[in-house]
Amino acid sequence: MDSELTRAWLLNAALLVEREKDRLTQLDLAIGDGDHGVNMQRGFSAVAATLAEPPAGDVTAGQLLVSAGTTLVSTVGGASGPLFGSSFRALGKALEAAGEADDDGRALADGLIAARDSIQRMGAAQPGDKTMYDVYEVATEAFGRAVRSGAGPKASARAAAEAAEEGVRATESMQARRGRASYLGLRSVGHQDPGAASAALIFRALATAMEA
Ligand code: ADP
Ligand code: MG
Ligand code: MG
Repeated sequence: MDSELTRAWLLNAALLVEREKDRLTQLDLAIGDGDHGVNMQRGFSAVAATLAEPPAGDVTAGQLLVSAGTTLVSTVGGASGPLFGSSFRALGKALEAAGEADDDGRALADGLIAARDSIQRMGAAQPGDKTMYDVYEVATEAFGRAVRSGAGPKASARAAAEAAEEGVRATESMQARRGRASYLGLRSVGHQDPGAASAALIFRALATAMEA
């Protein structure tokens, strides 16, 4: 994971969020307060804006991710901001600790686990609670499995993106047990979770960046 790929990932994520923001808002109107698309668009456009400025000297992938996470925490607003923000910060810190050696995606696999764990630590969601965690769980697992089988980062990111899509669809039949949607009880069943949909965009953006 180098800084060029990281930039491409974050910029792709910003593009996808921009393109899908109305759908994210529709999902949040059904089971939340209808601000998720706007929240995400505000956060990722702020991240894209910081990437447009030329860096002062060399910047690592880890530093870019920590800084993107900090931007998301301070700009997204809503429950999802600190959760996505902390996940990017955790990933960035893990990559910083691992160094940038070419390791066939193993450092990224470990970093994604750190990202997933930071979401769980902060939000206390369990699998099946109908949150973004449901996507991080299956996508991280798929990425790690693919890397361990020797698939390489590009194919592993594709596998993670596909698992993430499947993970969003799986939230439809779940009852929300965390966040605003949990106030609806059984009425949250039958709708996809908005934060899970955003998490899938983040994994799709990674796969697209790797393919370029
Ligand atoms: P808010 O609910 O404050 O308006 P958003 O609409 O931006 O915030 O984000 C809602 C999303 O945040 C949910 O769809 C869910 O995926 C995620 N979320 C909320 N609470 C939690 C939690 N405790 N753990 C994990 N994810 C959560
Ligand atoms: Mg909301
Ligand atoms: Mg809100």
